Amino acid sequence: ATRGKRPGGGPNLAVSFEFFPPKTAEMEASLWKAVERLAPLCPHFVSVTYGAGGSTRDRTHQIVARIARETDLRPAAHLTCVDASREEIEEVIYAYWDAGVRHIVALRGDPAEGVGARYRPHPHGFQTTAELVEGIRRIGNFEISVSAYPEKHPESPDFDTDIDVLAAKVDAGATRAITQFFFDNAYFYRYRDRLAARGIDIPVVPGILPISNFAQAARFAERCGTHIPESFAARFEGLDQDPETRLLVAASVVAEQVLDLLDNGVSDFHFYTLNRAELVYAACHMLGLRPALTTSAAA
Ligand code: FAD
Repeated sequence: ATRGKRPGGGPNLAVSFEFFPPKTAEMEASLWKAVERLAPLCPHFVSVTYGAGGSTRDRTHQIVARIARETDLRPAAHLTCVDASREEIEEVIYAYWDAGVRHIVALRGDPAEGVGARYRPHPHGFQTTAELVEGIRRIGNFEISVSAYPEKHPESPDFDTDIDVLAAKVDAGATRAITQFFFDNAYFYRYRDRLAARGIDIPVVPGILPISNFAQAARFAERCGTHIPESFAARFEGLDQDPETRLLVAASVVAEQVLDLLDNGVSDFHFYTLNRAELVYAACHMLGLRPALTTSAAA
């Protein structure tokens, strides 16, 4: 891992950045601009999501392969097993191996019909994410990340069941878990204790979603069962038409979250960038990360 130093000799840090495959040429330009801005922070890896029901299969592949080909970054490809046969998924995995990609974020995914639809495994597909992890392992020596849910997955009846699913993915060969985003760190700390009690010892990296648009973040949060602290609504209140102040408030909110995590022993952070760099860059700066070039230029 390439790790940045915190000023004052703090802990080593590893950050990773998540992007999504854009739909238009204009959105694609913003994606590459964000990648370019964040690359000098030397992330451990950058990941690219897979659209609901596998809908972005080709676009995800194109972007991941381009990152592998044209940059020094280490790409990770998200891959879901919903609505696809084993053969279809294995073909995607082989294509990543051939493109030099060595890290997959293995997921179940959600049914294409969207929220509320009941998940049904494909009759000829991987029945669980743990099976997908095994399938990836059989094909090549990939690094395999999986999801984790500090506030439990909305379909989970309780935390024990939720953690059973994570434990099965770890037993199948997952090497890292990345959490669903959360805004109240207390959930993460409680979850970390639960995982330790259960003997799950792979790194569980907090997924951080900087809030640039409060209404949108609140919608995401509701869908994922993520709790939003009451104080947040007040912090963003009245700023809908004031993007400058909103950005400053958003930067301080995300800085507060990551610094508290840092003070509580967290050294790895995964950022949901939404293909925008500024808040993520600011949060990394607050954590003490500096771009590789500035460090040498300043010497
Ligand atoms: P799993 O970890 O397999 O299961 C999640 C939960 O479902 C379990 O904890 C449990 O509550 C329940 N469950 C599963 N199996 C059983 C069972 N047999 N019995 C009882 N309960 C069960 N979605 C995309 O479409 N594309 C992406 O690129 C993408 N990237 C993501 C990245 C991260 C870091 C995270 C956290 C989520 C991502 N998602 C993505 C969303 C994810 O697909 C959904 O949250 C989906 O509902 C669950 O997929 P999973 O891999 O987390 O499922």
